[in-house]
Amino acid sequence: MIEIDLHLHTTFSDGRLTPTKLVRMCNERGLKIMAVTDHDSTEGLDEALEAASEFTDMTIVPGIELSTDIPGAEIHLLGLFINRNDKVLQRQLSTMRKGRQGRARAMVKNLEKFGVFVSWEHVEKLAGEASIGRPHIAQAMVEAGYVKFPKEAFDRYLGRSGPAYAERVKLSPEEAVKLLLANGAVPVIAHPTYSAAKSSRGEVEGLRDILTSLKAAGLVGMEVYYGDYTAQQIKWLGDLADEFNLIPCGGSDYHASGNPGEPEPGSVGPPRSTYERLQEARTHLTSKG
Ligand code: AMP
Ligand code: ZN
Ligand code: FE
Ligand code: FE
Repeated sequence: MIEIDLHLHTTFSDGRLTPTKLVRMCNERGLKIMAVTDHDSTEGLDEALEAASEFTDMTIVPGIELSTDIPGAEIHLLGLFINRNDKVLQRQLSTMRKGRQGRARAMVKNLEKFGVFVSWEHVEKLAGEASIGRPHIAQAMVEAGYVKFPKEAFDRYLGRSGPAYAERVKLSPEEAVKLLLANGAVPVIAHPTYSAAKSSRGEVEGLRDILTSLKAAGLVGMEVYYGDYTAQQIKWLGDLADEFNLIPCGGSDYHASGNPGEPEPGSVGPPRSTYERLQEARTHLTSKG
Protein backbone atom coordinates (compact mmCIF):
# COMPACT_ATOMS: atom_id res chain seq x y z
CA MET A 1 0.00 0.00 0.00
CA ILE A 2 1.49 3.31 -1.12
CA GLU A 3 0.83 6.05 1.44
CA ILE A 4 3.30 8.72 0.37
CA ASP A 5 3.69 10.73 -2.84
CA LEU A 6 6.34 13.44 -2.79
CA HIS A 7 6.00 14.78 -6.34
CA LEU A 8 2.70 16.22 -7.62
CA HIS A 9 1.63 19.13 -9.85
CA THR A 10 -1.47 21.33 -9.90
CA THR A 11 -3.04 24.03 -12.08
CA PHE A 12 -0.60 26.48 -10.46
CA SER A 13 1.99 25.07 -12.85
CA ASP A 14 1.40 22.49 -15.59
CA GLY A 15 -0.84 20.05 -13.71
CA ARG A 16 -4.46 19.90 -14.81
CA LEU A 17 -6.15 19.39 -11.42
CA THR A 18 -6.67 22.22 -8.96
CA PRO A 19 -4.97 21.68 -5.60
CA THR A 20 -8.40 20.87 -4.09
CA LYS A 21 -9.17 18.20 -6.69
CA LEU A 22 -5.69 16.74 -6.41
CA VAL A 23 -5.87 16.49 -2.61
CA ARG A 24 -9.28 14.79 -2.80
CA MET A 25 -8.04 12.35 -5.41
CA CYS A 26 -4.96 11.50 -3.35
CA ASN A 27 -7.12 10.97 -0.29
CA GLU A 28 -9.41 8.63 -2.22
CA ARG A 29 -6.41 6.64 -3.33
CA GLY A 30 -5.28 6.07 0.23
CA LEU A 31 -2.40 8.53 0.40
CA LYS A 32 -1.60 9.96 3.83
CA ILE A 33 1.28 12.27 2.95
CA MET A 34 1.56 14.24 -0.27
CA ALA A 35 3.96 16.92 -1.44
CA VAL A 36 2.66 19.58 -3.83
CA THR A 37 5.65 20.47 -6.00
CA ASP A 38 4.68 22.92 -8.72
CA HIS A 39 7.28 24.26 -11.14
CA ASP A 40 8.74 27.57 -9.93
CA SER A 41 5.65 28.37 -7.85
CA THR A 42 4.33 27.96 -4.33
CA GLU A 43 1.00 29.61 -5.16
CA GLY A 44 -1.02 26.40 -4.93
CA LEU A 45 0.06 25.51 -1.41
CA ASP A 46 -2.52 27.50 0.55
CA GLU A 47 -5.35 25.88 -1.35
CA ALA A 48 -3.81 22.41 -0.91
CA LEU A 49 -3.47 22.92 2.85
CA GLU A 50 -7.04 24.16 3.06
CA ALA A 51 -8.32 21.16 1.08
CA ALA A 52 -6.36 18.74 3.26
CA SER A 53 -7.96 20.15 6.40
CA GLU A 54 -11.17 18.36 5.27
CA PHE A 55 -9.45 15.11 6.16
CA THR A 56 -8.12 13.95 9.49
CA ASP A 57 -5.26 11.91 8.08
CA MET A 58 -3.77 13.83 5.18
CA THR A 59 -0.49 15.68 5.57
CA ILE A 60 0.66 18.18 2.95
CA VAL A 61 4.37 18.66 2.48
CA PRO A 62 4.79 22.10 0.94
CA GLY A 63 7.16 21.79 -1.99
CA ILE A 64 8.46 23.16 -5.24
CA GLU A 65 10.24 21.89 -8.37
CA LEU A 66 13.04 23.95 -9.90
CA SER A 67 14.48 23.22 -13.36
CA THR A 68 18.21 23.82 -13.63
CA ASP A 69 20.73 23.76 -16.43
CA ILE A 70 23.81 21.69 -17.02
CA PRO A 71 25.60 21.67 -20.41
CA GLY A 72 23.29 19.92 -22.87
CA ALA A 73 20.72 18.79 -20.34
CA GLU A 74 18.61 19.82 -17.40
CA ILE A 75 18.25 18.65 -13.85
CA HIS A 76 15.16 19.13 -11.74
CA LEU A 77 15.37 19.73 -8.03
CA LEU A 78 12.54 19.37 -5.58
CA GLY A 79 12.50 21.49 -2.45
CA LEU A 80 10.48 19.77 0.26
CA PHE A 81 9.14 21.60 3.33
CA ILE A 82 9.58 24.89 1.54
CA ASN A 83 8.94 28.12 3.43
CA ARG A 84 6.75 30.14 1.10
CA ASN A 85 7.02 33.33 3.18
CA ASP A 86 10.59 33.88 2.04
CA LYS A 87 10.98 37.11 0.08
CA VAL A 88 14.33 36.17 -1.48
CA LEU A 89 12.85 32.92 -2.75
CA GLN A 90 9.67 34.58 -4.05
CA ARG A 91 11.66 37.20 -5.95
CA GLN A 92 13.69 34.47 -7.60
CA LEU A 93 10.56 32.47 -8.47
CA SER A 94 8.93 35.48 -10.00
CA THR A 95 11.98 36.03 -12.25
CA MET A 96 11.87 32.38 -13.29
CA ARG A 97 8.18 32.56 -14.16
CA LYS A 98 8.82 35.64 -16.31
CA GLY A 99 11.54 33.70 -18.14
CA ARG A 100 9.00 30.94 -18.80
CA GLN A 101 6.66 33.42 -20.52
CA GLY A 102 9.16 34.62 -23.13
CA ARG A 103 10.40 31.13 -23.78
CA ALA A 104 6.86 29.73 -24.24
CA ARG A 105 6.15 32.48 -26.76
CA ALA A 106 9.33 31.55 -28.63
CA MET A 107 8.22 27.91 -28.85
CA VAL A 108 4.77 28.88 -30.15
CA LYS A 109 6.55 30.95 -32.81
CA ASN A 110 8.98 28.11 -33.64
CA LEU A 111 6.06 25.76 -34.20
CA GLU A 112 4.86 27.90 -37.10
CA LYS A 113 7.93 26.82 -39.09
CA PHE A 114 6.59 23.30 -38.94
CA GLY A 115 3.07 24.21 -39.96
CA VAL A 116 1.73 24.10 -36.41
CA PHE A 117 -0.37 27.16 -35.69
CA VAL A 118 -1.56 27.42 -32.11
CA SER A 119 -2.43 30.89 -30.94
CA TRP A 120 -0.59 32.47 -28.05
CA GLU A 121 -3.98 33.48 -26.62
CA HIS A 122 -5.04 29.83 -26.53
CA VAL A 123 -1.86 28.81 -24.69
CA GLU A 124 -2.17 31.73 -22.29
CA LYS A 125 -5.77 30.83 -21.56
CA LEU A 126 -4.81 27.24 -20.75
CA ALA A 127 -2.07 28.43 -18.43
CA GLY A 128 -4.22 31.04 -16.67
CA GLU A 129 -2.33 32.27 -13.60
CA ALA A 130 -0.01 29.28 -13.66
CA SER A 131 3.71 29.05 -14.10
CA ILE A 132 3.57 28.43 -17.86
CA GLY A 133 5.28 25.38 -19.35
CA ARG A 134 5.55 23.16 -22.37
CA PRO A 135 2.55 21.03 -21.32
CA HIS A 136 0.31 24.08 -21.86
CA ILE A 137 1.56 24.37 -25.44
CA ALA A 138 1.19 20.62 -25.90
CA GLN A 139 -2.39 20.79 -24.65
CA ALA A 140 -3.19 23.62 -27.06
CA MET A 141 -1.82 21.40 -29.85
CA VAL A 142 -4.10 18.55 -28.74
CA GLU A 143 -7.10 20.87 -28.70
CA ALA A 144 -6.23 22.25 -32.15
CA GLY A 145 -5.99 18.70 -33.49
CA TYR A 146 -2.27 18.62 -34.34
CA VAL A 147 -1.49 15.73 -32.01
CA LYS A 148 -3.50 13.09 -30.20
CA PHE A 149 -1.84 13.36 -26.78
CA PRO A 150 0.44 15.93 -25.15
CA LYS A 151 3.26 13.39 -25.18
CA GLU A 152 3.15 13.27 -28.98
CA ALA A 153 3.81 17.02 -29.03
CA PHE A 154 6.91 16.41 -26.89
CA ASP A 155 8.11 13.51 -29.01
CA ARG A 156 7.74 15.42 -32.27
CA TYR A 157 8.36 19.07 -31.40
CA LEU A 158 8.81 20.15 -27.80
CA GLY A 159 11.25 17.66 -26.27
CA ARG A 160 14.72 18.97 -25.38
CA SER A 161 16.12 17.96 -28.74
CA GLY A 162 12.85 18.64 -30.55
CA PRO A 163 12.81 21.18 -33.40
CA ALA A 164 10.59 23.74 -31.64
CA TYR A 165 12.29 23.61 -28.24
CA ALA A 166 13.44 26.91 -26.76
CA GLU A 167 15.73 27.44 -23.79
CA ARG A 168 15.39 29.85 -20.95
CA VAL A 169 17.96 31.04 -18.47
CA LYS A 170 18.04 28.72 -15.50
CA LEU A 171 20.01 28.38 -12.30
CA SER A 172 22.76 25.80 -12.07
CA PRO A 173 21.80 22.79 -9.94
CA GLU A 174 24.32 23.88 -7.27
CA GLU A 175 22.72 27.34 -7.13
CA ALA A 176 19.27 25.77 -6.80
CA VAL A 177 20.44 23.54 -3.95
CA LYS A 178 21.83 26.60 -2.16
CA LEU A 179 18.65 28.61 -2.75
CA LEU A 180 16.60 25.77 -1.26
CA LEU A 181 18.92 25.33 1.72
CA ALA A 182 18.87 29.04 2.45
CA ASN A 183 15.09 28.78 2.55
CA GLY A 184 15.17 25.82 4.95
CA ALA A 185 13.80 23.44 2.28
CA VAL A 186 15.17 19.92 1.83
CA PRO A 187 16.77 19.60 -1.65
CA VAL A 188 16.05 16.40 -3.59
CA ILE A 189 17.24 15.59 -7.11
CA ALA A 190 14.26 14.53 -9.26
CA HIS A 191 13.93 11.72 -11.85
CA PRO A 192 17.65 11.09 -12.40
CA THR A 193 17.22 8.40 -15.04
CA TYR A 194 15.24 7.28 -18.07
CA SER A 195 11.45 7.30 -18.02
CA ALA A 196 9.31 5.70 -20.72
CA ALA A 197 6.41 8.02 -19.87
CA LYS A 198 8.64 11.06 -20.57
CA SER A 199 10.55 9.61 -23.44
CA SER A 200 12.80 12.60 -24.07
CA ARG A 201 14.34 11.99 -20.70
CA GLY A 202 17.38 9.75 -20.60
CA GLU A 203 19.79 9.00 -17.82
CA VAL A 204 21.52 12.10 -16.55
CA GLU A 205 24.97 11.76 -18.04
CA GLY A 206 27.73 11.67 -15.51
CA LEU A 207 25.21 11.17 -12.71
CA ARG A 208 27.88 10.13 -10.21
CA ASP A 209 29.89 13.30 -10.80
CA ILE A 210 26.77 15.40 -10.48
CA LEU A 211 25.78 13.66 -7.25
CA THR A 212 29.27 14.24 -5.88
CA SER A 213 29.07 17.94 -6.66
CA LEU A 214 25.48 18.36 -5.45
CA LYS A 215 26.15 16.40 -2.29
CA ALA A 216 28.98 18.83 -1.53
CA ALA A 217 26.51 21.69 -2.12
CA GLY A 218 24.15 20.11 0.44
CA LEU A 219 21.85 17.77 -1.50
CA VAL A 220 19.79 15.63 0.89
CA GLY A 221 17.65 13.29 -1.21
CA MET A 222 17.25 11.62 -4.59
CA GLU A 223 14.14 10.31 -6.31
CA VAL A 224 14.24 6.53 -6.45
CA TYR A 225 10.54 5.52 -6.43
CA TYR A 226 9.47 7.59 -9.40
CA GLY A 227 6.72 7.61 -12.03
CA ASP A 228 7.09 4.57 -14.26
CA TYR A 229 10.51 3.41 -13.03
CA THR A 230 10.93 -0.36 -13.17
CA ALA A 231 11.88 -2.52 -10.18
CA GLN A 232 15.37 -2.71 -11.69
CA GLN A 233 15.73 1.06 -11.95
CA ILE A 234 14.47 1.45 -8.39
CA LYS A 235 17.00 -1.08 -7.14
CA TRP A 236 19.87 0.62 -8.98
CA LEU A 237 18.89 4.10 -7.78
CA GLY A 238 18.29 2.83 -4.25
CA ASP A 239 21.84 1.47 -4.12
CA LEU A 240 23.16 4.73 -5.54
CA ALA A 241 21.25 6.72 -2.92
CA ASP A 242 22.79 4.55 -0.19
CA GLU A 243 26.25 5.02 -1.64
CA PHE A 244 25.88 8.82 -1.59
CA ASN A 245 23.98 8.83 1.69
CA LEU A 246 20.94 10.43 0.07
CA ILE A 247 17.40 9.84 1.31
CA PRO A 248 15.49 7.77 -1.28
CA CYS A 249 12.43 9.86 -2.24
CA GLY A 250 9.86 9.73 -4.99
CA GLY A 251 6.32 10.01 -6.20
CA SER A 252 4.14 9.85 -9.28
CA ASP A 253 4.93 13.32 -10.74
CA TYR A 254 1.23 13.29 -11.58
CA HIS A 255 0.00 16.08 -13.87
CA ALA A 256 -3.39 14.67 -14.96
CA SER A 257 -1.82 15.21 -18.38
CA GLY A 258 -4.20 13.09 -20.40
CA ASN A 259 -1.33 10.94 -21.67
CA PRO A 260 -2.19 7.25 -21.82
CA GLY A 261 -0.43 5.25 -19.10
CA GLU A 262 0.44 8.25 -16.94
CA PRO A 263 1.51 7.04 -13.49
CA GLU A 264 -1.18 8.06 -11.00
CA PRO A 265 -1.02 9.04 -7.34
CA GLY A 266 -0.93 5.91 -5.22
CA SER A 267 0.90 3.88 -7.85
CA VAL A 268 4.42 4.65 -6.68
CA GLY A 269 6.08 6.23 -3.68
CA PRO A 270 8.69 5.93 -0.97
CA PRO A 271 8.30 4.02 2.31
CA ARG A 272 7.40 5.62 5.67
CA SER A 273 11.03 5.57 6.72
CA THR A 274 11.74 8.11 3.98
CA TYR A 275 9.36 10.59 5.54
CA GLU A 276 10.89 10.09 8.96
CA ARG A 277 14.38 10.63 7.57
CA LEU A 278 13.24 13.77 5.74
CA GLN A 279 11.77 15.22 8.90
CA GLU A 280 14.98 14.45 10.73
CA ALA A 281 17.04 16.09 7.96
CA ARG A 282 14.80 19.11 8.03
CA THR A 283 15.36 19.69 11.75
CA HIS A 284 19.12 19.66 11.16
CA LEU A 285 18.81 22.16 8.32
CA THR A 286 16.70 24.61 10.30
CA SER A 287 18.86 24.36 13.40
CA LYS A 288 21.92 25.16 11.27
CA GLY A 289 20.42 28.19 9.59
P1 AMP B 1 8.92 22.89 -18.92
O1 AMP B 1 8.91 23.14 -17.44
O2 AMP B 1 8.14 23.91 -19.67
O3 AMP B 1 10.30 22.67 -19.48
O4 AMP B 1 8.13 21.52 -19.14
C1 AMP B 1 8.51 20.39 -18.41
C2 AMP B 1 7.29 19.50 -18.19
O5 AMP B 1 6.93 18.92 -19.43
C3 AMP B 1 7.56 18.33 -17.27
O6 AMP B 1 7.27 18.65 -15.95
C4 AMP B 1 6.60 17.29 -17.77
O7 AMP B 1 5.34 17.50 -17.20
C5 AMP B 1 6.48 17.59 -19.23
N1 AMP B 1 7.31 16.70 -20.06
C6 AMP B 1 8.65 16.74 -20.23
N2 AMP B 1 9.06 15.81 -21.11
C7 AMP B 1 7.95 15.17 -21.53
C8 AMP B 1 7.70 14.11 -22.46
N3 AMP B 1 8.67 13.54 -23.14
N4 AMP B 1 6.42 13.71 -22.62
C9 AMP B 1 5.42 14.29 -21.95
N5 AMP B 1 5.59 15.29 -21.07
C10 AMP B 1 6.82 15.73 -20.86
ZN1 ZN C 1 5.56 19.48 -15.22
FE1 FE D 1 10.56 17.32 -13.36
FE1 FE E 1 7.50 17.28 -11.85
